[in-house]
Amino acid sequence: MTTYAHIASGKVRDLYELSDGRLLFVASDRISAYDFVLPTPIPDKGRVLTAMSIWWFEQLADVVPNHLLSTDVPAEFAGRAMICERLEMLPVECIARGYLTGSGLADYKRTGAVSGIPLPAGLVDGSRLPHPLFTPSTKAPIGEHDENISLADVEQTIGAAAADEIKRLTLAAYGTAEEIARQRGIILADTKFEFGRRVAGESGDGTIVLADEVLTPDSSRFWPAAQYEPGRPQPSYDKQYVRDWLTSSASGWDKSSGEPPPGLPEDVVAKTREKYIEAYERLTGLAWS
Ligand code: ATP
Ligand code: MG
Repeated sequence: MTTYAHIASGKVRDLYELSDGRLLFVASDRISAYDFVLPTPIPDKGRVLTAMSIWWFEQLADVVPNHLLSTDVPAEFAGRAMICERLEMLPVECIARGYLTGSGLADYKRTGAVSGIPLPAGLVDGSRLPHPLFTPSTKAPIGEHDENISLADVEQTIGAAAADEIKRLTLAAYGTAEEIARQRGIILADTKFEFGRRVAGESGDGTIVLADEVLTPDSSRFWPAAQYEPGRPQPSYDKQYVRDWLTSSASGWDKSSGEPPPGLPEDVVAKTREKYIEAYERLTGLAWS
């Protein structure tokens, strides 16, 4: 029998250590929005996101090494867990943006630049950027906002060589993924990666490895290409549906109140679940089961 010990729980994932030191990385059905974990889970979300991550790790295998070791997990976590290398995580959220929206757009409107990278005038919500940008942010503790930082800040934190390497890997992985998604009618507007270093055991040579979940609707903005129209917010496969409901009058929730958000109504749960499954099926070309 495999034994495992709980190490940590994030907003969405639960981490365990197996008796052989490997990491059991479990995706729950929890959903977070506006830095809160919502009280209502989305059925199957953990399985969909795990399957999608595994699919992407395979697609990116030639671009960047990843932490996935096995999908042969204890039965109670079947389908929603991965056995991974336990890494020393680099404390940076590595964001790649190929399109302007969200906090990048807000930055641009205020300063004409995103994370200090100057951009041409006249860009609008959804504009494709002249080239993809690396816009790192801090990894804030639960309940706090991640903060955008400059490449110089990243160099300060982890050293110039590692900063360079995660920038290169982030842009390479984004570029490959963006192309794959595009072929399937999905625009990968932006995404967040996390990297860690191999430090333990025989393979502990400091190699930087892609970790966490990758290229899921929780970490990325996926836009249906057929409906793409710069100059307005794009329909998307991410949590936009949940966010829109939370900020609508129907929820009765005031985002600025500091109060936790209310539970989601059944139709919002069902619609969100459908969106996750649709994204999986369109990207991978596989039927969800
Ligand atoms: P959110 O992603 O919603 O901001 P969070 O990052 O606080 O939440 P989760 O994403 O739920 O937490 O949990 C995953 C945690 O596991 C993160 O802290 C991530 O850095 C860490 N992690 C991912 N891969 C590895 C790995 N191979 N070794 C060690 N830690 C890892
Ligand atoms: Mg996370």
